Amino acid sequence: MFGKINSLSDCLVFFDFDNTLTPFDVLDDMVLRFSMDDNWKELEQQWLEGKIGSRECLKGQLERVRISKPALQKYLKKIRISPVFKKIIPLLKKYQAGPVILSDNFYFIIDAILRNNGIKGIEICANDLRFNKDRLTLSFPHTNSSCWKCAHCKTKNLSNARFNSKIKIYIGDGFSDICPAEKADIVFAKGNLLRHFRAKDLPYKRLNDMRQVYTFLKGIDIAESINR
Ligand SMILES: [Mg+2]
Repeated sequence: MFGKINSLSDCLVFFDFDNTLTPFDVLDDMVLRFSMDDNWKELEQQWLEGKIGSRECLKGQLERVRISKPALQKYLKKIRISPVFKKIIPLLKKYQAGPVILSDNFYFIIDAILRNNGIKGIEICANDLRFNKDRLTLSFPHTNSSCWKCAHCKTKNLSNARFNSKIKIYIGDGFSDICPAEKADIVFAKGNLLRHFRAKDLPYKRLNDMRQVYTFLKGIDIAESINR
């Protein structure tokens, strides 16, 4: 585990989005609600078995979703993100320590949910979508040509040279968080990410509640103001 942190200004904090900042996986829920048929189940199974990557899975599943832009905006209005995240943002901004959202979801969806929750102006790295009447057209600007597993290679963005001098703190829950979290210095994990870190005997902090992340970061902030 990483040693003592003297200042949040030495850190950069990365958050997964679905099921980390939201109470459920928004894309999974969208597919369940708005898919024309049940073909998504076969793709989900193939993805779970590691036979296809998340890009192929997402493309196949969302191809069969039918929803207009206004209908999607209406659906997204109901989604609440962790209120503690709103307290974390100014704390990190004070030290230019992020947050950066790394997600296999889509910019339009994440940005809409954040705005609906009164949050603007934070860095989001995600996939892109456009609307064609009631169909979604997807694009994946953050793929990794040498790895097929994820639609968005979070590791590529985490390893961005401009972040290299920073202590990287990663908060996530899913399969697409495993690779970037293994490259991070401190990890808060739940779900499949936690199970992976536990199985491989890697150091992690268990994430039950976003308040744990806030308390951890606030502790560094307080210690720094005392030592100043
Ligand atoms: Mg997630």
